[in-house]
Amino acid sequence: MTPGRPPPRPAPEPAPTADQATEDAMSNATTVSPAHSASTASTLITNIAALVTNDPSLGWGSPRSSKFESGGGSPLGLIQDAAVVIEGDHVVWTGDQSKAPATDNRVDAGGRAVLPGFVDSHSHLVFAGDRTQEFNARMSGRAYSAGGIRTTVAATRAATDAELEAGLTRYLAEALRQGTTTFETKSGYGLTVEDEARALRIAAAHTDEVTYLGAHIVSPDYPDDPAGYVSLVTGEMLDACAPYARWIDVFCEKGAFDGDQARAILTAGKAKGLHPRIHANQLSYGPGVQLAVELDAASADHCTHLTAEDVDALANSRTVATLLPGAEFSTRAEWPNARRLLDAGVTVALSTDCNPGSSFTSSVPFCIALAVRDMRMTPDEAVWSATAGGAAALRREDIGRLTPGARADLILLDAPSHVHLAYRPGVPLVSGVWRRGTRVA
Ligand SMILES: [Zn+2]
Repeated sequence: MTPGRPPPRPAPEPAPTADQATEDAMSNATTVSPAHSASTASTLITNIAALVTNDPSLGWGSPRSSKFESGGGSPLGLIQDAAVVIEGDHVVWTGDQSKAPATDNRVDAGGRAVLPGFVDSHSHLVFAGDRTQEFNARMSGRAYSAGGIRTTVAATRAATDAELEAGLTRYLAEALRQGTTTFETKSGYGLTVEDEARALRIAAAHTDEVTYLGAHIVSPDYPDDPAGYVSLVTGEMLDACAPYARWIDVFCEKGAFDGDQARAILTAGKAKGLHPRIHANQLSYGPGVQLAVELDAASADHCTHLTAEDVDALANSRTVATLLPGAEFSTRAEWPNARRLLDAGVTVALSTDCNPGSSFTSSVPFCIALAVRDMRMTPDEAVWSATAGGAAALRREDIGRLTPGARADLILLDAPSHVHLAYRPGVPLVSGVWRRGTRVA
């Protein structure tokens, strides 16, 4: 980029409009100030105590890293006393603040930390109803079972489109205030052709990362005919849902769908241009992770009960293991073994699994704190997994990092270091959020 000047313009169209001709004339006149539109103005965010870039090649060497005790081997590409330059909706420069180029606007970070916006790659936000009583009962000693989903299915079917959308936007606003700038969300509480398609239509108005989960559980309309429901999910329901979705998911679990059913569902989705991701090995050992690797799923989610073969398969694949500690927290279940996965070389993402039954939190910072405290991830690993890891789980390279060319999705913490996300659990540290270059919180 050239500081203080508009970006290079493409060659004019053969017949420019009057407005375009005027703008071109202005930009060519050396005595006129550059004609910036608001969307292409450049903004310098400077006086950043610690900048997480997620590009290790940009991080300081060991002599400088010692100040934060997190430099050696860190994946975060930390830069101290740093600055970021945003132009339009992209990052165009990151580095030492003393070398920052001139810009149109300037924001003083006040010696605080800046990170990429969180990428929440697993949520279930299109639903109605409430499961407070179920949670209360479970916390009083009853075991979690997949059947609780039926309660939400009944409430979701009974809700209007406006009610579903109002709930979705409420949870999205909640997540945004806590630093989530990209989220994936799923259907799965309709389980009819019409109700699944409308959930995805509503979700698609708010995100590109939409997942068809008609195979959440066997619909209560097919109590004695799971094969009939799989036929619906892979047939008429898929046809109605595919236009709104990028991904297809299945809950591969005892009481939901077995390996053969899951393979049939995901294969049908692939044939329609949807890419697979799987709820795998959450409540018990099973075929989900191996199936995810076999089908090149972007992510195997939960990964709580894994054999050595499952870990090896993930380590030798492009499939990300997405860990969802909000679910274990909210069900008092066994934590997934994050250290085993990381030490084997598996790419790990951290997400909320925000849903009304088993993990009703939209807070990525809370999940980071759980991952550090209870899953023994280092703070650096947890922050990487909630940003770059989430991006990998969505097969995205434009988010989850703060390097030139990345989308300008970033968060300002009211703290001098990203480590405070785990060090100060439960404290609302996110004090600024930029999405696509615009400050939104
Ligand atoms: Zn889930």
